[in-house]
Amino acid sequence: MEDKLTGLVLKNLPIGDTKNLITVLTAERGKKLIACHGARKLTGRNMPATQPFCLCEFIVSEKNNRLTLKESYLIESFFELRCELLDCCVGSYILETGAECAREEEDERELLSLMLNSLHALCSKDHDRVKIKSAFELRLLAIEGSGPVCDVCVCCGKPLGKEFWFSPAEGGTVCGLCRNSGVARAPLYPLDEGARMAMAYILHCPPKRIFSFKLGRRSTQYLETASREALVYTFDKIFESLKFYEQQKDILPEE
Ligand SMILES: [Zn+2]
Repeated sequence: MEDKLTGLVLKNLPIGDTKNLITVLTAERGKKLIACHGARKLTGRNMPATQPFCLCEFIVSEKNNRLTLKESYLIESFFELRCELLDCCVGSYILETGAECAREEEDERELLSLMLNSLHALCSKDHDRVKIKSAFELRLLAIEGSGPVCDVCVCCGKPLGKEFWFSPAEGGTVCGLCRNSGVARAPLYPLDEGARMAMAYILHCPPKRIFSFKLGRRSTQYLETASREALVYTFDKIFESLKFYEQQKDILPEE
């Protein structure tokens, strides 16, 4: 049986001498593994379209639920990411977290669209990398059904008041009373009104508008920490690509 799929290459794993196994997030059938023969040869016609970050159309043959690549056509390569190390790191993080969330034979168009929008944003001129990373993290959690509460106190359900914090373990914002009485599980991270409003916006705005918000430097830092910690808590691990991004960020001088 033959099938036509459109998808983003998430991983490319060499198997043996001539075969590669690529992980693709497809619009039609969720996450799929596709075997590629001869795709490692630089002259191979499928070589360019089987690399991570490539959005392609794939013609595959299917036997016993295994897919083998027959033809591939590159739609977009997000090549600009490779020009800047930190953008490339965030791009890899988008692919790694997306690969973790995507399921086989499920409708993952919302996830695919979030990943493509985020990669497009990273390739755009004068982009704000931290903002893109935070918005991606929060929206990913929302798609996974783990979007944090940020309109009331997640512990007591009451309005937040002037001072509030963010608790990944509680899954949202915490009021001063719940913090001081020790009801809210630690750690608690500071948050201001700008960061809280940005968080609410990212979680509920139309998919293509998730980066269309303005935020001051301090609020951006609060948002960066809260979204990172929420994702790490939800997945109960620090993704390798996130570790690498943070190491590189510490080494490189600030832009
Ligand atoms: Zn409370």
